Amino acid sequence: MNFYDEIKERLSMNAVLERYGFEADRKGFLSCPFHTEKTASMKIYENSFYCFGCGAGGDTVKFTALLFGLTNAQAAARLDNDFGLCIRNEKPDKQKMNEYLKKKAEKEKELERFRSDYLEKCERFKRLRKKLETAEGFERAKIDSELEYLDYYFEATAWR
Ligand SMILES: [Zn+2]
Repeated sequence: MNFYDEIKERLSMNAVLERYGFEADRKGFLSCPFHTEKTASMKIYENSFYCFGCGAGGDTVKFTALLFGLTNAQAAARLDNDFGLCIRNEKPDKQKMNEYLKKKAEKEKELERFRSDYLEKCERFKRLRKKLETAEGFERAKIDSELEYLDYYFEATAWR
């Protein structure tokens, strides 16, 4: 059985409706979410739906696709996630996995560099502020401009 069919078999229309905040009335009719109407004209069946007002119809996957503007494949994946079914069991592609891990490591390294640079600048900022209390003349102007630069750096590099 393929992924799509298994999703359809595992989930009833009512389960899907309930999950996304809808409830059919006692006769199994629902106010159609796909067109504006006063009386409920969407009939809910065990595993499908059909709207006598606008003609929308299909299975649970189709309903989800229409509701969230997804393709059927995306909708099936979303149902799989939202219901925690874990049906989709794609074998991880080894090459893709390695690329992913490599990128992740690079990102972490970059973040680490950024953090140490940031902390170093924080320390320097504190030291300069202290020095400024007693500095005079040219020394004071130098510290001032460096503090200005650091201020600019902190503002430009909001903590990631
Ligand atoms: Zn309708």
